[in-house]
Amino acid sequence: MEIKKKDIRALTKEQLREFFVNQGDKAFRGNQVYEWLWQKSAHNFEDMTNVSKETRQMLEANFVINHIKVDTMQRSNDGTVKNAVRLHDGLIVESVLIPTATRTTACVSSQVGCSLDCKFCATARLKRMRNLNPDEIYDQVVAIDKESRLYHNRPLSNIVFMGMGEPLMNYNNVIKAIDKITSPEGLGMSPKRITVSTSGVPKMIKKMADDEVKFNLAVSLHSAIDEVRTTIMPFNETFPLKDLKESLEYWYLKTNRKISYEYVVWKGINDAQKDIDAFVKFCKYVPCKVNIIEYNPIDDGDFQQASNLALENYINTLEKNRIVVNVRRSRGKDIDAACGQLANKS
Ligand code: SF4
Repeated sequence: MEIKKKDIRALTKEQLREFFVNQGDKAFRGNQVYEWLWQKSAHNFEDMTNVSKETRQMLEANFVINHIKVDTMQRSNDGTVKNAVRLHDGLIVESVLIPTATRTTACVSSQVGCSLDCKFCATARLKRMRNLNPDEIYDQVVAIDKESRLYHNRPLSNIVFMGMGEPLMNYNNVIKAIDKITSPEGLGMSPKRITVSTSGVPKMIKKMADDEVKFNLAVSLHSAIDEVRTTIMPFNETFPLKDLKESLEYWYLKTNRKISYEYVVWKGINDAQKDIDAFVKFCKYVPCKVNIIEYNPIDDGDFQQASNLALENYINTLEKNRIVVNVRRSRGKDIDAACGQLANKS
């Protein structure tokens, strides 16, 4: 009977050290292998050139490295890169490299599909199949970092968890991945350059605050009126704005860090004065900044980008109320890599 080999990256450094001691080797060997697995992102045991051939063969006999594989890579004419990433069980997720003049950002996925059902989002049409492991999240970042160096001559500067899936529904694995990404034994990135973007799960926002996480929080708000938000994001019925507000106040009290609100304005849905007024009021609860995001229609979707006049109304009213607002023009539209478009179509 064939023995199913264990994924070596499921072991902690301490467990790896112990494994080598049990094999009659030195604990130090565990450190060497750990460095190959994470800092050097080795795909094969053969690559571990400072480890003896016998040890590499022994590792091969006992373990696998379930590395992701970039199945297809598309480059947009604006420099955006989209990867369709094949996981060890054949499932596919997508991640995107977004270059601007000052930064290169990786937008990574946290789940295969999504269990939430935001009406404007292409991913919502794929049912959630499973959570990603920490190493599958980490590998997406490593792949994008390589592409950033190759195509833009600079390392990756920022990460947003805004790809497929709701990161707070896969909290433990997202946290483990971020720990590896920020660890000097991993990629050594500053947590200040990482943003977890959630549709707003109040209980988990409070948990993050209690866990004293050091990364940034963004909330996809899209409406500050319950009835409207529920039509856009039906789970708002379960997690209404009152609960979201309370969790954000808790976050700010504990972390003293501003929140970003992601906000898309759609024609006939949230482009009226009452929508703007409700949003401005919501923005005053907790120190925040606002990202107004250009919308990318998905095939046969009912949602359409609002007029420039409606956008200007939003921007002017927010600014009059001293709320910092940025407008995010969409990137990678020609390759379906823009916000809300990730749906494994490539
Ligand atoms: S917007 Fe995010 S949370 Fe909502 S369905 Fe799409 S992937 Fe899921």
